[in-house]
Amino acid sequence: MAKLIILGSSNALSSKDSENTHMVLVGEERTVMVDCVNNPIHRLEQAGIDFVDLTDLVLTHFHPDHVSGAPLLLMDMWLRGRQKLIHVYGLHYTLDRMEKLMEMYSWGDWPNFFTVAFHRLPANENTPLLNCDEFKIISSPVRHLIPTIGLRFEFKSSQKALTYSCDTEPSEEIVRLAKGADVLIHEASGASLGHSSAEQAGQIAAQAEVSKLFLIHYPTGEFANENIISEARQHYKGEVALATDFMNLDFS
Ligand SMILES: [Zn+2]
Repeated sequence: MAKLIILGSSNALSSKDSENTHMVLVGEERTVMVDCVNNPIHRLEQAGIDFVDLTDLVLTHFHPDHVSGAPLLLMDMWLRGRQKLIHVYGLHYTLDRMEKLMEMYSWGDWPNFFTVAFHRLPANENTPLLNCDEFKIISSPVRHLIPTIGLRFEFKSSQKALTYSCDTEPSEEIVRLAKGADVLIHEASGASLGHSSAEQAGQIAAQAEVSKLFLIHYPTGEFANENIISEARQHYKGEVALATDFMNLDFS
């Protein structure tokens, strides 16, 4: 079993039915959360996951719409009596700030706090992040306002591959990271500094020759744009869909 559950699909301005973009990969032995926003335990519970079972947390970059929930997640794990360590991955820039944030919360004074193993990743393309029996994850730097990583997941038994762009301008790095993948989940916040439009996401999907494109991190609620699917189709002839909250993708 290896399935990806979208926990949120909105850009930074989330809405009632669309939380900020974050997701969880559920495997047999590892449960890997990618970004952590708001109060994450409620979304995990709605997705049928006990937050105490998370084994790994990947933080793509240190913006509030991607990491704001991490301190509360760690505190709630501690309050539930977690003993086993959790692995947290991110660039130096990200994890240095995450540690500073936790120091401001005086986490060193929380009695019997479990171990948080920080894995600082170099900002290099194709950096091995995690390799377990079921899948491996690699990261590459993308082009956002601050140091940010995109992710590629490769599933060993099905030989399928998934790439998540994270927040980025169109970039060669993301084309290489997504090359030949079965699924590309690409952001579509709109064409602006450090972001991409749906049309640009479609161009990247075409260049990377992926089989299916899901748009994510798009404007929702009162800012929703009904045309983003057709905009993505201008340059990409494959299947295009919106990633939506609680959508499941099976990679078994
Ligand atoms: Zn964002």
